[in-house]
Amino acid sequence: MRIKFLGVHHEESKNTRLVCFLIDNILAIDAGNLASELTFSEQEKIKAILLSHGHYDHIRGVPSFIFNNQGRSTKVYASKQTLKILTSHLFDGVIYPKFTEKTPFLKKPPIQLKSLKPFSPLNISGYHVLPLPINHINGSLGFEITSKNNKKIFYTGDSGANLSSLWEHISPALLIVDVTFPNRMITIAKNSSHLCPKTLKKNLREFHRIKGYCPEVVLIHLSPKYENEIRKEIKKVSKELRFSIGIACEGEIFHV
Ligand SMILES: [Zn+2]
Ligand SMILES: [Zn+2]
Repeated sequence: MRIKFLGVHHEESKNTRLVCFLIDNILAIDAGNLASELTFSEQEKIKAILLSHGHYDHIRGVPSFIFNNQGRSTKVYASKQTLKILTSHLFDGVIYPKFTEKTPFLKKPPIQLKSLKPFSPLNISGYHVLPLPINHINGSLGFEITSKNNKKIFYTGDSGANLSSLWEHISPALLIVDVTFPNRMITIAKNSSHLCPKTLKKNLREFHRIKGYCPEVVLIHLSPKYENEIRKEIKKVSKELRFSIGIACEGEIFHV
């Protein structure tokens, strides 16, 4: 499995992009900067988009991607709450056409919305996807994605502090996790359902206790303003737990 990170930050700027990564060039996970980081021919290769939840930094790239690829029908998978956000706020017929419906100038709707339920696995473009409930906004999902040759990753999406109830359901080789704030902002992190290095540490310790192994960990969704601080704190956590914890950069590729 080849994972390419297109966007790994919580805030957009000239040097930072919103959350989005690709699996084997065909599956897009979240869509913060999906269209802006790919050529048109790279966009054509994408078979499906999975969305963890409906916050702007994760869905921002969907309308422009669909607008660019109107000649075909892209499947977008998410919880019903997240799909509702797309149809009521993005494809509402005002700021963008209602892409879920046939238009006079298109033979078929350019987007097909597919609803995901927690704990109901399904096959998406040859990958086994297990959606799990995440403590963030209503309808948030994390995904364990398994390739045909049985390589597994788990993506938390934006996540509140308590992930340990999920660990018994998954066995990824790579864990992609949200760490947004440094430790001194733990209250803000908790109130906005994000992790900081301290709460990550607690969850990883639990992972090791429950599963008996350490997966490789890659962090995304960092707030650029606190990135240096977070990096220092994560180094310590990595040393203390003896976990390999990396912080993804835009454009970086991981192989599982
Ligand atoms: Zn969010
Ligand atoms: Zn977010």
